[in-house]
Amino acid sequence: MLPQLIDTHAHLDFPGLAERTDEVLDNAKKAGITKIINVGASLDGSKKSVDLAEKYSQIYASLGLHPHVLVEDNLFGDDKLIDQQIFEIEKLLSEKKVLAIGEIGLDFFRLPAKINEMEIKKAQKELFIRQLQLASDNNMPVIIHSRDAAKDTLKIMNEFSSLKAVFHCFSYSLEVAKEIVNKGWLISFTANITYPNNNDSREIIRYFDLSSVMIETDAPFLSPQGKRGDVNEPSNVVEVARRITEIKQMKLEEVAGWTTKNAVNFFGF
Ligand SMILES: [Zn+2]
Ligand SMILES: [Zn+2]
Repeated sequence: MLPQLIDTHAHLDFPGLAERTDEVLDNAKKAGITKIINVGASLDGSKKSVDLAEKYSQIYASLGLHPHVLVEDNLFGDDKLIDQQIFEIEKLLSEKKVLAIGEIGLDFFRLPAKINEMEIKKAQKELFIRQLQLASDNNMPVIIHSRDAAKDTLKIMNEFSSLKAVFHCFSYSLEVAKEIVNKGWLISFTANITYPNNNDSREIIRYFDLSSVMIETDAPFLSPQGKRGDVNEPSNVVEVARRITEIKQMKLEEVAGWTTKNAVNFFGF
């Protein structure tokens, strides 16, 4: 029997996956994936996450506004629209099977050239803080997206140290990982740990025991080595688990046991 795994972060509502939900879920089931968290990255994506969770028993929803929506959904500079979208997210939190807030955070990688750098960073921080406050008010865990912004993310998170949090698609150094794990937060890895040049992540996985680790695909993005360029899907979370077995010299059952237990505790299924 296959060990049971949970994909803690996927976007089944994104192009490449949305057109073939049944096939993707069937593949996941065959690979031993028992649960999938569909993560909202925009208001529209959050609504779709709720719909997917309602329709499919193995899907659960997380809701949030990713820092990129400021530009992509024209929220930047429009406080009224931001208020409105956060209000809509808040209303959806009471829907069944909504288990977390996210993905929310800071992304300073390739900021848009047409907007003043300080202003967009400030706007990202405000959006992040407002949603952390929402999580705090509703006693919910948060899924954090943070890229090229470790220092600012930690500074803000330290104001919310009692929140349950996972830093998804972890891409920072061992030093940053230590700071996060010491706070009792989790780190989550995607199939980018299978990429030949990603020694940093493998070093981090080697360093910690698995009590602070979850696994995810971030599908449709980040297909494992050997399938790079393909549309990623939740069944490939097995590849993430397998790579961890090699790094830590553990059995697949053991990696599955830890990561599934951590996900169950974190999301509270
Ligand atoms: Zn992300
Ligand atoms: Zn994502």
